[in-house]
Amino acid sequence: MSMDPRFGRRARAVTVMALALAATLAGGAWLCPVSEAAMSDPATFVEGDCNGAWQGPLEVAADLDARVAAYVPTTMDPSLAHLEAGEQAALAKLVEVARIMDGLFTRQATPCTGELAARVAELPAERQSAVRRYLAINRGPWDRRFDMEPWLGASAHPAGANYYPVDLTDAEKALIADHANGLDGLTTIVRRDAAGKLVAVPYSRYYGPELQKAAQLMREAAALTKNASLKAFLESRAVAFLDDDYYASDMLWMDLDSAVEITVGPYETYEDGLFGYKAAFEAFVTVTDPVESERLAKFKDELPWLEMQLPMDDRHKNPNRGSESPIRVVDEVYSAGDTRAGVQTIAFNLPNDERVREAKGSKKVLLRNVMKAKFEQILVPIAQVVVAEDQLPDLTAESFFLHTLWHEMSHGIGPGKIVVDGRDTEVRLELKDTYSTMEEAKADAMGEWDIFVLTRANKGYFPETIFRQQSATYLAGIFRSVRFGIGEAHGKANAIQFNYLVGKGAIVYEAATGRFRMDVPVFEKAIGELVGEICTIQAEGDYAASQAFIQRYAVLTPELEGALAKLTHIPVDIAPVFPRWEK
Ligand SMILES: [Zn+2]
Repeated sequence: MSMDPRFGRRARAVTVMALALAATLAGGAWLCPVSEAAMSDPATFVEGDCNGAWQGPLEVAADLDARVAAYVPTTMDPSLAHLEAGEQAALAKLVEVARIMDGLFTRQATPCTGELAARVAELPAERQSAVRRYLAINRGPWDRRFDMEPWLGASAHPAGANYYPVDLTDAEKALIADHANGLDGLTTIVRRDAAGKLVAVPYSRYYGPELQKAAQLMREAAALTKNASLKAFLESRAVAFLDDDYYASDMLWMDLDSAVEITVGPYETYEDGLFGYKAAFEAFVTVTDPVESERLAKFKDELPWLEMQLPMDDRHKNPNRGSESPIRVVDEVYSAGDTRAGVQTIAFNLPNDERVREAKGSKKVLLRNVMKAKFEQILVPIAQVVVAEDQLPDLTAESFFLHTLWHEMSHGIGPGKIVVDGRDTEVRLELKDTYSTMEEAKADAMGEWDIFVLTRANKGYFPETIFRQQSATYLAGIFRSVRFGIGEAHGKANAIQFNYLVGKGAIVYEAATGRFRMDVPVFEKAIGELVGEICTIQAEGDYAASQAFIQRYAVLTPELEGALAKLTHIPVDIAPVFPRWEK
């Protein structure tokens, strides 16, 4: 996902905090859910008083309908027919767990959601359905597409979401940032105690009833599945929900080898735009495709061969780099929480715990049916506006999937650990702030190059038509990605590819039609040259060259801007609908 645009924004109170215990006992306040142990437990805390929240006129953005239309509802319902009855029953339990995560994330994102819902119910009846839909997409009254500006009401987004009191003072922020105070935990909520002092409340306690229910459902699913790796993970993660220690179950998640899988818990920290300390609940419930898994295993075996073919100096090649990250291709059965808000994930890489990454690496999971949905709903309509008409029949969902798959595989080849001036170092350390942009551009370009080189070597994976299909689909994909902006690595990487390929004559603008065409043979050659240039800069750890390369190519040219201006009516993303699980 992209850089978090909320980071550094000033928090402003959207609720009136009740600092005095008396106020919380007055009856109208949202009492803390764990008040019994109040006097003795160090984690005693006072929840903010929501009576003051969302006061004033609840203005709705004038262009709400257009904002809603940017997310096209898309049914996700992969076949479960290949699963045995026990696995299907386990899957249904896991969707229930995911739905719990969904509710928890909404509470993490937005303070006083109950009061907000009550105010929405006061709106004119004809506005309510669009408002509720956009609330479900954004998980609050702030627009994730537009820098978290309010689209409903006038309250500024609190940078720390609902992880911290919304009226933190600068002194309190300093206390949190000082790691010695124990307020910076990944799985705690920061509140004040009755005396007004900041306290960290573990998720297992703050969300106690919900996480206990989730743990129970996980154990029930564990009893239903016949798969030993899934059973072990579910039982272990159920314990983690109750003691906030996710390490052991993160380790087991790496070993999952089951048709039914779930990725569930507190993971990413983007929602905490104040510090990036707190993890957001989310869930992906998925099923694997056995045919795809088999093909993937063969692709992985080609990585050392591909490394040796790389268009750069042989001394930079390392066939023993090893593919540190396992890759899984799955279909999404249900998604919830953090990942369900805003733009939908097509691939993720977890866990984030560095101890697990050191021991076992991390796992990349590609959501094939989400990619297919984006291909149909976004990529094809974009291509119909900007890609040469005779190349439109070459667009395929398979090519879009292959692009993403080989992008991820390509992160595992090319320069990683390098030697600069006799020093052992890493590309990441040498290229510093330019690293992500260069690595993403490399992975995109190399992904196409991989497919072409394998096909030229008659490996038998792809038909001859793949050259045309990858070319047209890749071209449309650049416009899709650049639409999200060139402020972060992925957007910059796409602008680099576009401008580089225009410079080489691979992408050709046709002034008469206002469309772009890919010259397929020129593309095949030029994409290899792009891979070679980036890999050489990486292998030499040449920061100055990397900066110059980005400065030259990562720009929005008038041609590119003109094309993007024609795409404003096309949805930005999908909003998944799961009819099997949600009415
Ligand atoms: Zn990448």
